Amino acid sequence: QVKRSPEIQEARLRLPILAEEQMVMEGIHDNPVVIICGETGSGKTTQVPQFLYEAGYAMKGLIGVTEPRRVAAVSMSQRVAKEMNLPTSVVSYQIRYAGSVSDETKIKFMTDGVLMKEVQKDFLLTKYSVIIIDEAHERSVYTDILIGLLSRIVPLRHKKGNPLRLVIMSATLRVEDFTENKRLFKVTPPVIKVESRQFPVTIHFNKRTPVEDYITEVHRKVLKIHRTLPPGGILVFVTGQHEVNTLCRKFKAVGKRAGPKREPDTSGTGPNKDQDPDEDQEPVHEDLKKAEEEKKAFKKWKLPKISLDSYSAQPRDVENDVDDEVDGDVDSDDQSEEELEDEVKDEEEKVLDSEAAEDQVPMHVLPMYSLLAPHRQAQVFQPPPEGSRMVVVATNVAETSLTIPGIKYVVDTGRVKRRFYDKVTGVSSFKVDWTSKASGNQRAGRAGRTEPGHCYRLFSSAVFGNDFETFDPPEITRRPVEDLILQMKDMGIDKVVNFPFPTCPDEESLKAAERLLIALGALEQPPKPKRFRDMKKEFFSTRITDVGRAMACLPVAPCYAKMISLGQQEGCLPYVIALVSALTVREIFEESSMQGHTDAEREAHKKLQARVAHNKKIWAGKGDNALLGDLMVLLGAVGASEYVGCTPGFCASHGLRYKAMVEIRKLRRLLTNAVNSVDSDCGVFMDPKMSPPTSTQVKMLRQIVLAGLGHHVAKRMSADQEGFERGGYQSVGIEGAVFIHPNSALFKQLPDYVVYQEIIETTKPYMRGVTAVEREWLPVLFPNLCTFSKPLEEP
Ligand code: ADP
Ligand code: MG
Repeated sequence: QVKRSPEIQEARLRLPILAEEQMVMEGIHDNPVVIICGETGSGKTTQVPQFLYEAGYAMKGLIGVTEPRRVAAVSMSQRVAKEMNLPTSVVSYQIRYAGSVSDETKIKFMTDGVLMKEVQKDFLLTKYSVIIIDEAHERSVYTDILIGLLSRIVPLRHKKGNPLRLVIMSATLRVEDFTENKRLFKVTPPVIKVESRQFPVTIHFNKRTPVEDYITEVHRKVLKIHRTLPPGGILVFVTGQHEVNTLCRKFKAVGKRAGPKREPDTSGTGPNKDQDPDEDQEPVHEDLKKAEEEKKAFKKWKLPKISLDSYSAQPRDVENDVDDEVDGDVDSDDQSEEELEDEVKDEEEKVLDSEAAEDQVPMHVLPMYSLLAPHRQAQVFQPPPEGSRMVVVATNVAETSLTIPGIKYVVDTGRVKRRFYDKVTGVSSFKVDWTSKASGNQRAGRAGRTEPGHCYRLFSSAVFGNDFETFDPPEITRRPVEDLILQMKDMGIDKVVNFPFPTCPDEESLKAAERLLIALGALEQPPKPKRFRDMKKEFFSTRITDVGRAMACLPVAPCYAKMISLGQQEGCLPYVIALVSALTVREIFEESSMQGHTDAEREAHKKLQARVAHNKKIWAGKGDNALLGDLMVLLGAVGASEYVGCTPGFCASHGLRYKAMVEIRKLRRLLTNAVNSVDSDCGVFMDPKMSPPTSTQVKMLRQIVLAGLGHHVAKRMSADQEGFERGGYQSVGIEGAVFIHPNSALFKQLPDYVVYQEIIETTKPYMRGVTAVEREWLPVLFPNLCTFSKPLEEP
């Protein structure tokens, strides 16, 4: 009954999964749980929901599809709606703040977080006839938990005579954590492999591994490929949004000044000797015949002029309504402060190759990262302008979650930016690290989708062999889990250690999470164990409290939920909601390193910076109000921008990130509604013209912040302590000094006691989001602090 357009139909038929429709559907029909593995681009996400729809699954309930990223949930639902010729009210999406779901919805794409919330409300997910967990190889925390939950829901639904099908889809064959885990699935689910055409990809390793400046190396390599090798798109993997923009800008500069020149063919063996643009590289495997053909093709290929003017170096995603800013703690596009410093250096670097040349081919340079506006992401699906070469500079979003057509060359830095989280101290830092062998191979595979390709690895085979892990560790083992634990307890899963995680978080993280939740009053105090050996047992079966239940209803981290739960006093709730919203959104101020190219631009930038600093000072308040510190600045920024209706113009002139401010507005609305539905008595409403808090309210706010962040108290060091001179603080459980960042509103004051939002280690361990608190509040407001700082430990 689906009426697809002929073009769509034709495109579908080229997808490998179409040939497997029958096998896939029989697998799903005959088994409660099925795993589908297929290369990125084989058609899993767009086609499997359509197969299910056509097989009538939508008549028995919704077809639900979860994605780890919001962008994917939105864009995939739109793509499938288009392919099926159905309105978005039928093929819909639901993300944290927005959705197109209606009574007619049959296929629902959503983030894994959204489905998790639905499980909390209706454990059996009775609305659904089938759930597809997509991108399971990414091993995002919610994906993992959902698979654990569904492993129990599926048999329960079977018992009730209303079966639910579970389809787990993965871009890699690494699914042992799902299949070999008997606690998870008693009956091993069948794995359906979708074979896709993959052309051979020749891997070229560097002889040497550039240690520091791999960006310059990338730049050099891309230009070299561009001017010596036959047509075909180039896909570059770097570690973050900032590197993407830096490189795009560099390529643009090349385009402006002159452009990569076609090298004269003097080698006698043709310009593309062994497809290796660089002597520094060791070819590992060659498809010589193909190379020969390509050489011929290259000879016929005329190189026209360069033009990169269509590319704008500074993306400002003003129209963007949908992005991944708040979801998830780990994001490959996270930017560390160190990077901001790098950027300045990059700007000053001399651009290579600035000779003018006649024979120039334009590079069509496109950025790709997860926070990029969807319409700009979609540009990579369009063929590049006639006679130009597409160069996509991407973070690891291009590794598996989307397929860029026409890529023949991959340039892989082999690196990824990870957020490291110290389980004991809670200090996080961003580090550029080697990816895994598995993801290196995924990246290389991107080059062989349409014809044989080449992957240039900017590291040596020895480094790949010795320093790369086989696989990336699942996210759940790498970040704090208190939010998950609270949600699980809210579902009545008291013994979290017994939960069938595909990969269990380690005991240290589970304990830390329970301790924090107990301290926040979300979980009951465990009874004092009579014998030491019972201690652990008791500890891991603590139950949720009423406060905990209320907190679990709020879509923010437990420490923020705690603040909201205390917001009733003195009419503080609207302020607490605004604060929590601002704290949840990453970095509300625009990066300060956009210096511009011309003197006029630089001058304007300087002025803006001065104005921003001035505004921050005003927002920081005076007298005792200023003790709320960085949070007072946040509150001031939100209040001021809302007062004028949160316009792009206001944000630009005040150095605020417009997207962040829009995000905050949405979160305020969401949280206001959530609070009203948890507690109908409080009747809080969202006043856009929020007047500044009174000094009583500010004092109350500081206490509320302390109650939520009591585990992040820091005390100014005493004069005899190492680090005192440098303005050091000492914080619970952290060895050595931590510091207030020079950008902080409290940098000059150095109050005796502060609480902070988080510590990020860049050049030093810096506290972010700092508020001053009073000594005498500590024991009163945070009675469990002791339990917290002195965890139950073996004697
Ligand atoms: P998989 O989930 O197996 O990685 P998808 O179903 O996402 O594969 O993609 C199948 C094909 O559909 C790919 O070739 C991809 O390029 C194409 N495609 C996906 N989204 C779009 C879009 N918005 N516009 C055009 N083509 C798209
Ligand atoms: Mg997919």
